Amino acid sequence: MTAAPTCLSCGAPLTRTLVDLGMQPLANSYVPLGETAPEPRYPLHARVCDACLLVQVDRVVPPEHIFSDYAYFSSFSESWLAHARAYVAMAIARFGLGPKSQVVEIASNDGYLLQYMVAAGVPSLGVEPAANVAETARAKGVPTEVAFFGLETARRLVREGHAADLVIAKNVLAHVPDINDFTAGIAALLKPGGVHTVEFPHLLNLIEHTQFDTIYHEHFSYLSLLAVIAVFARQGLRVFDVEEIPTHGGSLRVFACLQDAPHARTAAVDRVLDKERAAGLDRPEGYAGFEAKVRAVRAGFLDFLAAEKAAGRTVAAYGAAAKGNTFLNYCGVGPDQVAFVVDRNPVKQNTLLPGSRIPVLAPEAIEARRPMSVVILPWNLKAEITAQLAVVRSWGGRFVTAIPRLEID
Ligand SMILES: [Zn+2]
Repeated sequence: MTAAPTCLSCGAPLTRTLVDLGMQPLANSYVPLGETAPEPRYPLHARVCDACLLVQVDRVVPPEHIFSDYAYFSSFSESWLAHARAYVAMAIARFGLGPKSQVVEIASNDGYLLQYMVAAGVPSLGVEPAANVAETARAKGVPTEVAFFGLETARRLVREGHAADLVIAKNVLAHVPDINDFTAGIAALLKPGGVHTVEFPHLLNLIEHTQFDTIYHEHFSYLSLLAVIAVFARQGLRVFDVEEIPTHGGSLRVFACLQDAPHARTAAVDRVLDKERAAGLDRPEGYAGFEAKVRAVRAGFLDFLAAEKAAGRTVAAYGAAAKGNTFLNYCGVGPDQVAFVVDRNPVKQNTLLPGSRIPVLAPEAIEARRPMSVVILPWNLKAEITAQLAVVRSWGGRFVTAIPRLEID
């Protein structure tokens, strides 16, 4: 018998299941056309820590398999760029950033955000683990180091003169395998009065809107404000403000500083904590019943696909992203049910989705093949995608989202 897994942050044994999504391939491992050998599959099992309430997936994937062939470029989403631009304007105004400041972004991707900071004349440094992605950022004029971030990297950056007034981590905290080392690195990198902002999909939305497709192997933890406060406190960071923002179906932007820094705690912190308590997130038994809701989503989608097939209507999908892969593989769907998926990212075109082996094509395939239903896999971008693909209406086609329940319009 294998020992029970232990909590990523506090080390307590993990005995409570949130949802078991079965054996799944890595969600970002796109398959070359013509490849027939099956890809490795690993258990995708989300649990809740009874001691500190951190929701997390079992760490079962060898780390060297996780970040290779990283095919994600942030700049392919227009709404994400607008979000980045607005963030930079907010941060410059609120924290008085200027030519003498230092900003560091962790997992800075292709410079999609720091390009606006650089344009405003604020010294900025990106830290990005993927060399090919970092190169794209440098080509845009964003200084970028290729490194994994943690305490060791943070200490080196401080020695090299990059102690920071602002450390930005958007949508990365949930992805780090060692959340304690990462958070200790943030604390080490901050100047005494410096500010850390971190964004992550809010666990409250995952639970309340059955967003189980945001669970995948590379996404180690699923964060509530109350769990983040505990993780941060263990490393000497204090949360002083929080905003609820719409990205990824509902995220939190948390503002933190060193324990003794002079940033006053706002009422927003208690407001969000009250919501979490009202939803039962402050006690282990509050997480019961989620798995049954997930099974109901799968049943609804499979009924829809069966009806479309019976009527001889082609179903396609939009958006070759991690969340779509978790969803399709949990539902056990293949190319006989969803004929193809389109994506604007040329890196993903002419590959097969991991697991489901559904072909990924350029968006032009929609007009060429005129499917009667287009399933929008990144449901959080529904408005943007429906507008881009308005032509689908011209042949009577419809848009479908499956989460939190099947909707056809
Ligand atoms: Zn724990």
